[in-house]
Amino acid sequence: MEHYHDPKVDKIAELILQSRRLTFFTGAGISTESGIPDFRGPDGIWKRFDPDDFTYERFLNDAEARCKQWRLFRELGADAVPNKAHIAIAELYHLGKLDCVITQNIDNLHQKAGVPYKRVLELHGNLHWFICLNCSRRYTLEHIKDKAGENEAPPICEECGGLLKADVVFFGEELPEDILREAMKRACTCDLMIVIGSGLTVYPASYLPAYAVDSGSRLVIINLTPTPFDAQASIVIHAKAGDTMSAIAGQVKDRLMYK
Ligand code: NAD
Repeated sequence: MEHYHDPKVDKIAELILQSRRLTFFTGAGISTESGIPDFRGPDGIWKRFDPDDFTYERFLNDAEARCKQWRLFRELGADAVPNKAHIAIAELYHLGKLDCVITQNIDNLHQKAGVPYKRVLELHGNLHWFICLNCSRRYTLEHIKDKAGENEAPPICEECGGLLKADVVFFGEELPEDILREAMKRACTCDLMIVIGSGLTVYPASYLPAYAVDSGSRLVIINLTPTPFDAQASIVIHAKAGDTMSAIAGQVKDRLMYK
């Protein structure tokens, strides 16, 4: 395996074994190997879509923007499956080595990999659910994904014809306060935070690694490209998340077995 003999992998495994409160912080880059593009990478979503079309204001008032939003949501919610990095994190949970995953992602892949729902703090919501703004009825994406209207208009509520809003945070919307508060608490009380696949440029989410470091936690960053927080990290690996994380989880498992 590509990174198995990388001394940094050994060191991260060691930090995980020593850790009593391990928190992961994940971004779009952990899911690119599942076929879901990130926002700003070379094949990023913002090369094909205009971020200005993804404001809450346009969702409410602009039928054309709603069609574009629906096109992207359907694409992101298509049948992606967890990759080696999601699976490695779930393995660490089963080994008793995970406090929680704080994620910027909306793709449900940590849960699909086997991390229990209550251990995943979703800062930007989850694309699995859509909610009628009029009568609050909830639908799964699975239920509505083939029910688009004319000219690819997004489906409307089957009960009352109201607008269906993806249960995700649009630009211009507040982050869910209770989840943000809990994430801040976890970031301030962990002793090891591992960031995977985030450029750490989207705020307020990206303050969390800083809270962790300021509270005395170690920080590890696994990201293809440099981030503004690299200088604050104990270990930085610029490589793909999948191979790196399975090498790390493999080391942890081996060392626990031969302890
Ligand atoms: P980003 O697009 O700004 O950055 C992604 C980072 O991941 C980049 O720095 C890139 O170098 C790195 N990366 C890409 N592939 C990688 C790989 N295989 N291994 C390791 N690193 C890799 O994304 P972000 O910082 O997470 O924030 C942008 C916003 O994107 C978030 O708010 C999130 O809600 C949203 N988003 C989510 C999804 C998803 O749910 N899968 C997809 C796209 C965007």
